[in-house]
Amino acid sequence: MCHHCDGKHDNPAPAEPGRREMLKSAGAGLAALPLLGVLSSNRAEAADASASTLGQSPFSVRAYGARSVGGRIEPLRIQRRALGPRDVLLDVLYASICHSDIHTVHGDWGAPRLPCVPGHEIVGRVIAVGGAVTKFRVGDIGGVGCMVDSCGECENCLADREQICTNGTTFTYNASDKASGGHTFGGYSDKIVVTEKFVIRIPSGMDLVSTAPILCAGITTFSPIRHWRVRPKQQVAVVGLGGLGHMAVKLATSARAEVTVFTTTPGKIADAKRLGAKEAVLWSDAAAMKRLANTFDLVISTVPYAFDAQPFLDVLKLDSTFVNVGLGEARGIHAHAMAFGRKSLVGSMIGGIAETQEVIDYCFARNIRPEIELICPDQIDAAYARVVGKDVRYRFVIDFASTKAGA
Ligand SMILES: [Zn+2]
Ligand SMILES: [Zn+2]
Repeated sequence: MCHHCDGKHDNPAPAEPGRREMLKSAGAGLAALPLLGVLSSNRAEAADASASTLGQSPFSVRAYGARSVGGRIEPLRIQRRALGPRDVLLDVLYASICHSDIHTVHGDWGAPRLPCVPGHEIVGRVIAVGGAVTKFRVGDIGGVGCMVDSCGECENCLADREQICTNGTTFTYNASDKASGGHTFGGYSDKIVVTEKFVIRIPSGMDLVSTAPILCAGITTFSPIRHWRVRPKQQVAVVGLGGLGHMAVKLATSARAEVTVFTTTPGKIADAKRLGAKEAVLWSDAAAMKRLANTFDLVISTVPYAFDAQPFLDVLKLDSTFVNVGLGEARGIHAHAMAFGRKSLVGSMIGGIAETQEVIDYCFARNIRPEIELICPDQIDAAYARVVGKDVRYRFVIDFASTKAGA
């Protein structure tokens, strides 16, 4: 029974793939495969003969994805790789919906590779580990964000900036998968296999239902707050109050900055203040924009669409920075205005693995939680429409946990 749609699932909850199903998906090789001796399993898994072999060969899992560009999100099956020595097998509990998922499925950033299984904010329970894994044990909770691999050797990887690996970061979905030769599939799925380095430790006692959004929305806004060294009493503006924006408000406020939100939605003014903002202003309020000229030390834009950026550069102080994390195209920049205030326009994309661990630990220590609405997997399409319609407060989290035995 699903708690979010009164059990009105089009599709019943996914079951563990049965042994027969696994044999079918893995081919006859599985039956003849000797036990590798590299897997450990928890007691419940070990009791189940089919589950105890999970990960010894590539295996089929239930997932939700699009079969065509812009297509509806529907149940399908994908292959996960056999566990390598440093791999962790996560039983996905929660995956949240980032606007990037929608852009990717809709082909806004180029045609996606199909089928497209999005999801790069993932929390799961470790149910098996490779023999060389040291970071996790079976039963631990792990998180996966926007990336699942990198070269580990380039200048950026060695400096904990795996998200900009010069040899190519492997993103969690819609990226070339070195392991399978195909493309990566994200967290809208029953299980995922990820090398341990790219799995974030989720502290014991953390609220799992609301943790997933920190793994993209949290790190994406935390990283610029850290990089530009936001200090108490500084003036920080957040443009756009959605999944990223609401985390930017919470994180900048936690750094004791004074936060102003720019929103297009009158109904979010009160929310912005509830989340910690000192002030919230509509973009269309020309008088307020004029009053706020030369005010801010840092502007963080979370806008996911092309937008006129000059008004937000005008509100920066001398030598200050507008950082575009929403990846919406910043249009209409006036060179003279930029030069006059020696202003910077920069981009920033998520953060490295160490920094992602840092934001998880930071949020846990301060009890900073994303604001979420829990949905069941059959509601993903409807949730996408609501995100596009700016009708989300402030992240949809897909509940896979309640469909699982023992949850
Ligand atoms: Zn994201
Ligand atoms: Zn690298």
